[in-house]
Amino acid sequence: AAPSHPDDAIRGTDDDAAASRFSAVSLGYLSDPYASLLYKQQRLAGQSARKAPLINVGTHHRTAALDAVVDSFLSAAGDGAQIVSLGAGSDTRFWRLNDASQTRQTPLGRYVEVDFPQLTAIKAQRIARNRQLTGTLVSADPSSPKPYAVSHGGTALTAANYALLPLDLRGGAATLDADVLPLLDPSKPTLLIAECVFCYMSPDESAAVIQWFGQTFERTAAVIYEMYGLDDAFGRVMRRNLSQRNLSLPGAGFATAQAQADRFLDSALGAGVFNDSGAKSLWDIRTTVVPKRELERISKLEILDEIEELRLVLSHYCVAWASKGLDQVGLR
Ligand code: SAM
Repeated sequence: AAPSHPDDAIRGTDDDAAASRFSAVSLGYLSDPYASLLYKQQRLAGQSARKAPLINVGTHHRTAALDAVVDSFLSAAGDGAQIVSLGAGSDTRFWRLNDASQTRQTPLGRYVEVDFPQLTAIKAQRIARNRQLTGTLVSADPSSPKPYAVSHGGTALTAANYALLPLDLRGGAATLDADVLPLLDPSKPTLLIAECVFCYMSPDESAAVIQWFGQTFERTAAVIYEMYGLDDAFGRVMRRNLSQRNLSLPGAGFATAQAQADRFLDSALGAGVFNDSGAKSLWDIRTTVVPKRELERISKLEILDEIEELRLVLSHYCVAWASKGLDQVGLR
């Protein structure tokens, strides 16, 4: 076998995220017709696609919270809102949002997804081969028979309302200027999504990305999903499990959820470019954001008897948001 690259473990984390989404969808926690189209199970005979109840519940709460922040951004932003999803992996949100936008008044601007070329090549192929996925794309070139164009050796796919780009985010502002900016309109409100991505980059590298958004767009917002508190007793167990998979977490040194929110405001952290931010742990999201009726519904799907363990796990993940020039973005 070819010697493995240190980034292979990072790229492999998308498989986990996609498998968790697939499990949560198959068991009825989430409704997402695209999860199975963008994720192909590679499991051995006899192995179950089912994740532990605790993981399914976490995936549900994480998705509900991200969806709520994205919705708050779209309401604040109005016409032509753009979204850039960094380390998007096999994420399905672009297609889910388009389904939802059938009932929304304001048209969306372009949705850009970025990941390593090894992942975008697979995603581009899955999109191009599936009519349900290409059906959402709007052609940038009416004379072309297809609504999208594939380029960069099959690792990039672009349409008028969507783009999938291969790049390493550690390239910072220079990479974003060269490859992402040409696909966006800097006068339009733009949301940065980084769902479980910044922990794999150094704090300086992610600060450079955050700063670029704050400096490039007059009206902008960000939402991130991250781990925190990995230095307490339970956090050290989490960290050990991850390092057994050769995963290093240079950006997972945040002690609290609030510290994840502060990184958007604090210029000492290199990103003093937003003027409003907040954060909630997944446990707080469970108790204050997820509607009671929805909690009741999912409580019937599987037996979850270890509430204390659930609280411990959910208290090590958070959703943090920030905005500039836009009102009421985030979880209230
Ligand atoms: N955001 C997706 C989700 O939540 O379903 C995938 C999350 S997965 C845990 C992390 C993703 O970030 C992987 O797809 C990985 O390849 C990507 N990633 C990590 N570091 C990156 C970098 N420096 N440049 C581009 N992508 C990166």
